[in-house]
Amino acid sequence: MAKAESAMRCGLIGEHLGHSYSKIIHSRIADYSYELFELAPNDVEDFLKKGDLDCFNVTIPYKKTVMPYLDEISSEAERIGAVNTVVRLENGTLKGYNTDYYGFYATLDKLGVDVKGKKALVLGSGGASVTVQTVLADRGAGEVITVGRRLENNYENLYLHYDAALIVNATPVGMYPKNGEKPVSLKDFSRLEGVADLIYNPERTALLLEAERLGIPCINGLYMLCAQGIKACELFTGRMADGAVIDKTADYIREMTENIVLIGMAGCGKTTVGRILANMTDKKFVDADEEFTRCYGVTPAETIEVRGEDEFRNMETEILARLCRESGYVIACGGGVVTRECNRDIMAQNGKVVYIKRDLSKLDTTGRPLSQMHSVYKLFEQRKDAYERFADYSVENEKSPKDTAEAIVEAIKGEIVK
Ligand code: NAP
Repeated sequence: MAKAESAMRCGLIGEHLGHSYSKIIHSRIADYSYELFELAPNDVEDFLKKGDLDCFNVTIPYKKTVMPYLDEISSEAERIGAVNTVVRLENGTLKGYNTDYYGFYATLDKLGVDVKGKKALVLGSGGASVTVQTVLADRGAGEVITVGRRLENNYENLYLHYDAALIVNATPVGMYPKNGEKPVSLKDFSRLEGVADLIYNPERTALLLEAERLGIPCINGLYMLCAQGIKACELFTGRMADGAVIDKTADYIREMTENIVLIGMAGCGKTTVGRILANMTDKKFVDADEEFTRCYGVTPAETIEVRGEDEFRNMETEILARLCRESGYVIACGGGVVTRECNRDIMAQNGKVVYIKRDLSKLDTTGRPLSQMHSVYKLFEQRKDAYERFADYSVENEKSPKDTAEAIVEAIKGEIVK
C-alpha cells in the first residue's frame, strides 16, 4: 500500500543549495517533509544507494549523474538527457522525470505566445537550454535557433534572426550578483511577441526591463520554478494540483523576496514610514543615506558641500545598485535619486517603487543642504515628473506614519494603484 503523504520523506539534492526556494514551494503545497541535502560529488552514489528518501528532486550539477541509478526514465527526461525529479514507485523501483520541461511548458502558456510555425531564439546552450528547445519543438515552433558564444549562431550574427517571435534567455547573464547585464538588446527584433528569462533573481533582469519598456509581453523564471515544483509534487503524491496553485506560490515567493523602494522629497517621512513598513511586511529596513555614510565615511550633506552634487550622485548610484540587488528590503532613498535616469532600472529590478507625497510646507529641511540652497518648491518643480515616472504607486503621507505604511501595503496588494 502507498505511504500516507504526511509520512513521506522527500527532498532536494544538489551541490550548493543556499538559495533554493524548493523547500518553500513544497512546504506550501504538500504534507510530506521536504529537506535540502547538499552533497559533494563523491557522496552522491552512497546517498542514492542508501535510499532514505521516498521521492526527491535533483539540481545542479547532478541532473545527469543520477540517471544510471534509476530503473526507468520518462520520455521527456530521456530526450532532454537530464532528470530533476525521482519518484519511488510502489514496487520500490525509481523513475526519473524532468519537471523543468513542464515548468517551461506552463511558462509559455502564461506568457501567452503561441510558437507554432514561428522562429524562437534560445540564448545559451546548457542544460536549461536543452529543456527549452525540447518544449519549443514539441509545441511546433517553426524554427528553434540556439545562440551560443561558440556556436554557428552567436552574438555576432544575431541580425540573421531579427525576425524571431520569441526570445528565451537560458544563460546566467543578468543573474544576481551581476544584475544589470543583458545577453542581447531587443530593439532590433521587429517581430517579437514575447521574452522569457529563466532567471528569477533579480525579479526583473535588464532584459525584462527592456522588454517592458518596449511593450513586449515578458516573464521571469519564477513561474517556471514554481510550476516544475508543483509538477514534482503531483508525481510524488499522485494528487493533481489546480493551475492557480502555480500563481499563488509564485506570488507568495515574490511578496516575500521583493523590495519596497521609497522615493520622495527629502524630509517627507521615508525613513520613519520605512521602518514601520519593514516591521509590517517582515522585511529588513535600510536607509540609503545612512548606508552612504557607513560606506564612504562621510555624510551625503558633507559630500555635496565638498565634492559637489554631480560627484555625490555617482557615489549614490553605486550605493543604490548594491542595495537594490538584494532581496526582501524596504529601502528609503535620498530625495534626489530620481535626478539620475539610470537609477530607475536599479530600483525597479527587484520590487516596487513607492512615491511618498507630503505637503511641501511640512517637509523637514534640517541638515539637508540641497533643500536649503534651492527652495524645496524649486526642487519639487524640477523633480515632480520624475517621481511620478519612477513610481509604481504613490501614497500621501499626511496622517500618521503608520497610516502611510498601511496605505503602502494596500497599494502593493493592488487596491490603490497610481
Ligand atoms: P548551464 O548549464 O551552466 O548553461 C548556461 C549556458 O549559458 C552556457 O551553456 C553558456 O552557453 C551560456 N553562458 C554562460 N555564461 C555566459 C556569458 N557570460 N555570456 C553568454 N552566455 C553565457 O546553466 P543552466 O542550468 O542551463 O541554467 C541557465 C540559466 O537558467 C541559469 O540562469 C539558471 O538559473 C536558469 N534556470 C532557471 C530555471 C527555472 O526554473 N527558472 C531552471 C533551470 C535553469 P554558450 O557557452 O553556448 O554561450
